[in-house]
Amino acid sequence: MAFGVGTLAAWPREPAALRVDAPTERFSADRALGEVAAWAGGPRVTGTAAQRAAVNGLAARLRTLGFVAEPHEYGRLLNLEASATGDRGEGVWLVAHSDTVRGSPGGADDGLGLAVLVEAARVLSRDGVPARLHLLITDGEEAGLYGAQAFVNDAPNARRLVINVEARGSEGPAYMFQTAGSTPPLLSAWRASGCTAQAGSLARWVYESLPNDTDFTVLRASGAEGYDFALIHGAWRYHTPDDTLAGLDPRAVQQVGDCVVGLAQEWLRGRPAAADSPLAWQQVGPWMVALPTWAVRGAALAGGLLVLAGMRGRGAVGGLLAWIAALALAAAVGTGALTTLVATWPDFLARPAEVEHPEGVYVGAWVIAAASAALSLRVAQRLSRRGAPELVGGWLGGSALCAATGALLAPEAGLVLLPGLFAAGARLHGGGIAAGAARVGAAGLAGAMLGPVLLALPIALTSRALPVLAVVPLLVVPWLLPLRLGASEKAP
Ligand SMILES: [Zn+2]
Repeated sequence: MAFGVGTLAAWPREPAALRVDAPTERFSADRALGEVAAWAGGPRVTGTAAQRAAVNGLAARLRTLGFVAEPHEYGRLLNLEASATGDRGEGVWLVAHSDTVRGSPGGADDGLGLAVLVEAARVLSRDGVPARLHLLITDGEEAGLYGAQAFVNDAPNARRLVINVEARGSEGPAYMFQTAGSTPPLLSAWRASGCTAQAGSLARWVYESLPNDTDFTVLRASGAEGYDFALIHGAWRYHTPDDTLAGLDPRAVQQVGDCVVGLAQEWLRGRPAAADSPLAWQQVGPWMVALPTWAVRGAALAGGLLVLAGMRGRGAVGGLLAWIAALALAAAVGTGALTTLVATWPDFLARPAEVEHPEGVYVGAWVIAAASAALSLRVAQRLSRRGAPELVGGWLGGSALCAATGALLAPEAGLVLLPGLFAAGARLHGGGIAAGAARVGAAGLAGAMLGPVLLALPIALTSRALPVLAVVPLLVVPWLLPLRLGASEKAP
């Protein structure tokens, strides 16, 4: 209950898309979409006339805004750079790519980035183009990040602040899933910018374990700092003929645009001053929560000890073993289900990122998890002759100890698990008004921090990660079960 209330309170909200007649000092999604409408109706494959027409159109428009816009040719590639004087030095670099895959109009990928860059450039240069503002529109991104690599080879410079805008989906809320460079100044500017995109060190941690790459990867390797934005919802359109400009969610365009303008304004003022320390961080509703990684580790240790102390003498071992069996069962059934799906429904993996309606797969993952849980609990009850609440105590302890271990080993990923860890600890100790209040408060906080992350996880991983998706509910469900685990149960 408290978990659900917390989740709802922190649920990502997108701003309303501003119309073409919005005040000129504001970023307007409708104006941004209008900037690319003339040439974003069809594919812009590297080396084709359509890609060149798009670059030339962008260059012409940026020149009317006061930029020196220069195409740069590298073999078949045609990049575009724009700035006040044509220099390629330090400062803020807004980045997107002009090319598409064959057969896709790239309305979101990367029509989103191009639309955002032009409208953001207009807002930022209303009083003249800032000397430190640059735009980089790459080519050959889809074929292998070639345009970004050509730029880095041609103009090596380690002191850039890069804001890259990409899309693997076409709908919001927007995500900032990757950063480069020292985190404290990035977060300091983030807070001042008012950006409300979903972001966190957990997302970065997950993304870095996936094989995906963007131009940002190349720029980061060259020593740049910065932020990598993307849309991931509506991923079934990605790299297909359905990725049209009409399919691109204007509210997501607005959200990314507001973030790009806000962050660029902060960094154009200079590098934000912030003490350099490793941080774990998470956007929670409108707030950016950040803790030093040593504090996350300390809290994880304390929470883990609290849980261990609460687990003594309540069928904890039986419950723990049942929970581990449920995890293994869910992973095995999930793997079997995925193999069967792929064998009987070739279209399942035909789409580059996601099936058209992935909801069925997510529901399937929950069904597998629930069935595995019920079965393992039933077997454990038979074997240990203990009641379900006692066994669930072991479950909850197992799940909480996993969270504690995770946060100890990878504090950047584990920050979002801390409130849940303490909620579990308070629940295992049970009894008393203070413990009850602590439990409800921690559960609410857990919902606010973890709820939006859990709902984004299947979309980030896609249906292909069915075995993983079937295991995730088992890590969460023990927290949600309404079984009473109060101190009274400790009595013989
Ligand atoms: Zn792309």
